[in-house]
Amino acid sequence: MTETLLAVPPVVNDVFASVVARNPHEPEFQQAVHEVLVSIAPVLEAHPEFVESGIVERLVEPERQIIFRVPWVDDAGRLHVNRGFRVQFSSVLGPYKGGLRFHPSVNLSIVKFLGFEQIFKNALTGQGIGGGKGGSDFDPHGRSDAEIMRFCQSFMNELYRHLGEHTDVPAGDIGVGAREIGYLFGQYRKITNRHESGMFTGKGVQWGGAEVRTEATGYGAVFFAEEMLAVRGESLEGKRIAVSGSGNVAIYAIAKAWQLGALPVTASDSSGYIVDDAGIDVDLLRQLKEVERVRISEYAARRSSARFVEGARPWEVAVDIALPSATQNELDIDDATALIANGVRAVAEGANMPTTPGAVAAFQDAGVLFGPGKAANAGGVATSALEMSQNASRQRWSFDDSEAKLRQIMKNVHDSAFDAAARYGYAGDYVVGANSAGFERVAHAMLAQGVI
Ligand code: NDP
Repeated sequence: MTETLLAVPPVVNDVFASVVARNPHEPEFQQAVHEVLVSIAPVLEAHPEFVESGIVERLVEPERQIIFRVPWVDDAGRLHVNRGFRVQFSSVLGPYKGGLRFHPSVNLSIVKFLGFEQIFKNALTGQGIGGGKGGSDFDPHGRSDAEIMRFCQSFMNELYRHLGEHTDVPAGDIGVGAREIGYLFGQYRKITNRHESGMFTGKGVQWGGAEVRTEATGYGAVFFAEEMLAVRGESLEGKRIAVSGSGNVAIYAIAKAWQLGALPVTASDSSGYIVDDAGIDVDLLRQLKEVERVRISEYAARRSSARFVEGARPWEVAVDIALPSATQNELDIDDATALIANGVRAVAEGANMPTTPGAVAAFQDAGVLFGPGKAANAGGVATSALEMSQNASRQRWSFDDSEAKLRQIMKNVHDSAFDAAARYGYAGDYVVGANSAGFERVAHAMLAQGVI
């Protein structure tokens, strides 16, 4: 396990103790900070100037946190009050950049963990984007389009004053897809009287969106897995793949896995998972999840080669590669043990922090290739940065050109993480590599820009 392998300089323990004391009810945030702090220990050893200038103490405190009331009225005329969040974590490399999540579990801890991770992920892409994240404890499941629209409008009525193409640029995340982004962008345009394309990414391609942004996170996770396998002289050809989730990331990971010759056999949602030994039918999955918005069990009801397993996760299925692509902490030590026993060769995180620390350690100890989310799912935000470039220059690039750029970015992200791990003496450890490469870039910029 990374934690036990690395000698941790005193500053790491001091800062972590302070994070726990100052953020006592935020377990996800503490988990994310711990993972990063432990794995950047070699960078801090090599760069005492980062320690002397308090880079780490400053980084763990968001530049700004916004919490606001979101009142809205449902179709029956009942009033609801949700809570909105935007955590603007670091703008040292560019405008705050990171998605909005609408899910009942959203709270400050989750938004802060996601925002903190986003700083290093965005740095790792090599682009000029800072880190932030936001969302609400609103649950879109079962709501009508009109209710979704009224909620999004109320949410933007407050958030708009904190956004802008040079300030803070949100995108989608869990519960925020094309429909929600349309309503959010529309309300921003109405309030500000500006068609400011670059203030939101993930827009429809007809009104400022970029080709491949929708597909980018899932495609990118598969490209990352391909890069890891290539280091060992292997490919995706013929590999069985377990994917969790059935949203944006999962659907396009499954689609790209097929295109690269693999056999994706699972998908899931919060009710359970489906396994289809004939391979997941992407068109059917999209129809059920993007159009009909029904539970995953419906897939098995409509396809004879599939079965639904209620209340379980797909990690008990024998596969070569696992792509956890639903939510945080959805793959624990028991799941890792089952995957290892079944011969898994590589794990690439499509979701943010889906693998618990114990499970990460189990994979690494067993010699399983492990690609952490801040590297493996960086394709989404990287393509968002391409969308911002196109908006700024009023250009529109083709699908093929954009996909080629995404593929190159994922290779660069892989190589940066791989090289940084080797440089610090942890060859093959992508957790150390991704955190170190991202942190180095952020720390140098903070050093240059002074204590602010
Ligand atoms: P979606 O809302 O499109 O899909 C989320 C999927 O995960 C759904 O199938 C959902 O099932 C399932 N899920 C959500 N919460 C839980 C839970 N608590 N337990 C079990 N299943 C759950 O989201 P995305 O595909 O956009 O995001 C998935 C993950 O990828 C998140 O971790 C996100 O932060 C990360 N990510 C997304 C990016 C993007 O570009 N979209 C970029 C980088 C990372 P159900 O409908 O039943 O809730």
